[in-house]
Formats: sequence, C-alpha cells, structure tokens
Amino acid sequence: MRAIIFLLLVVLVFFIVRFVLNRIIEIREAQNSAAEQDHSETTPLTEDMVRCAECGVHLPQSEAYYDGQDTFCSEGHMRAFHQTSTTANDETPPNA
Ligand SMILES: [Zn+2]
Repeated sequence: MRAIIFLLLVVLVFFIVRFVLNRIIEIREAQNSAAEQDHSETTPLTEDMVRCAECGVHLPQSEAYYDGQDTFCSEGHMRAFHQTSTTANDETPPNA
C-alpha cells in the first residue's frame, strides 16, 4: 500500500513539474512573440526607391517599370523614354 501512495506521489510531482514547465514556456513564447511584434511595428517596411528615367519622379521599386536598364514610373514613360532615345539615335548623322 505504501508503494502505491509513493508511486502516486511521484506521478503527481511529475505532472506538477510538467505543468509548471509548460507555463514557463508559454510565458516565454508570449513574450517573444510580443517582442517580435514590437520589432516589426517599430521598423517600417523599407523598400528601395527608384527614379523614373523619363520624368525623374521617385517611386518604390515594386511599382516601377523596369526595362532591364532603366526604371520608370509608368509604362507610358518607359515607351516615351525609348522613343526619344531611338529618335535621338536616328538624328545622329549616319557614317556615309
Ligand atoms: Zn515618369
């Protein structure tokens, strides 16, 4: 009978220790996630700003049009830039 009581006591202690450890882990995780949230809130999403080669306006890289060499604020400016650059090339006198 004594052995059974001792065994129950051991199991009880085991569960208490496990419960306390789980509580500690939960609190730590909650603190970590809170710290991460604070970090993400204090540091805003920084995005690289690029300059339109046609009009010179600055805009985020994700909204910019990229032709492989220059960035533009809109598709129209990309086309306009290419047209002016090609006409500029046409205006150069050909080597006769
Ligand atoms: Zn532009």
